[in-house]
Amino acid sequence: MPALLMFLAAAVVCCSCCGLALLLRRLPGCSCLPRTLMARTEKPFFRIAYGLYTRTRLGYLFYKRQLKKARERYPQGHSSTQAIVFSGVKVVPIPVLSDNYSYLIIDTTSNLAVAVDPSDPIAVQNYLEREGAMLEAILCTHKHWDHSGGNKALKKLYRTCRVYGNACDDIPELTHSLSDRDQLAVGRLQFQAFFTPGHTVGHMIYVLDGKSGDGPDCLFSGDLLFLAGCGRMFEGSAGTMLASLDTVASLNDSTLLWPGHEYAADNLMFAAVVEPDNAVRDKKFQWVVQQRLEKKCTCPSTLGEEKEYNPFLRTHCRDLHVALDLQRGAAEEWSHFRSRVLEEVRRRKDLFKGR
Ligand SMILES: [Zn+2]
Repeated sequence: MPALLMFLAAAVVCCSCCGLALLLRRLPGCSCLPRTLMARTEKPFFRIAYGLYTRTRLGYLFYKRQLKKARERYPQGHSSTQAIVFSGVKVVPIPVLSDNYSYLIIDTTSNLAVAVDPSDPIAVQNYLEREGAMLEAILCTHKHWDHSGGNKALKKLYRTCRVYGNACDDIPELTHSLSDRDQLAVGRLQFQAFFTPGHTVGHMIYVLDGKSGDGPDCLFSGDLLFLAGCGRMFEGSAGTMLASLDTVASLNDSTLLWPGHEYAADNLMFAAVVEPDNAVRDKKFQWVVQQRLEKKCTCPSTLGEEKEYNPFLRTHCRDLHVALDLQRGAAEEWSHFRSRVLEEVRRRKDLFKGR
């Protein structure tokens, strides 16, 4: 029985995430399970596995195992990344686990640093030492272990470090609970937090004010939004997720998107299926393929770009409605119709190559 429980927990560990069915196919003895069994979040099997991953120690143990395996497999990280420097601010993407990104945002005047979703504490600590920075705060987007798993170890090393997140999610070591549009500061770095439920009940995203460093705003989107994709709706309806995505869409087009995972290639392949005639997407895909051939990070994109090709931000577009063969009912509210569109895009994405 414990083996079965471990298997179930394993099945949800890539929970951003779209990797459940893919993971199932990789696990011994699971090839007979149809992709559709795990592809929809409302299936009973999925709900059991998800509960084990998020609410029991099995999830944590599996995260630890995945961390160990990823460190062995990718001693230099799964992708090569490049820091971006504005006047007095440095954003450093850190490749962790098999496809996650954590981030350090450093006020280069004071050398105070903020870590976003530091799931591998050793990797984050190495980067902090390399940059000569002091960890002042952790911004946690949500409770899933591949985003929050390093909080405890880092809090031990940096005892005064504040840990921010939403109290609805069970964030390890949370010291400062945030609500929608709360602001926080570390040195000269100014952030605003937005409550964006849907992937989890307490998911938050964080926007670094560009004025902190005379650059563009930077969005750290966790598992709400990826390059050309969005997170799965584990703990919210399509309407809830749509409201969260609309929050993102309301931000400046020049905002840089720093997502929680490297999913760009898969996401753009799927985007081509639901919206075949999109030249902007084609061009981005060609660039992403080249980047990934060299194992280079594909972030950041901008929100302006995302609105051009990310189907999850295009539920208002007629081309997408036609491609999905969806029509608005005569008396149907616009937001209700867009929720249906989002649900259908998400459903198709869940089934697309099992990711
Ligand atoms: Zn997640």
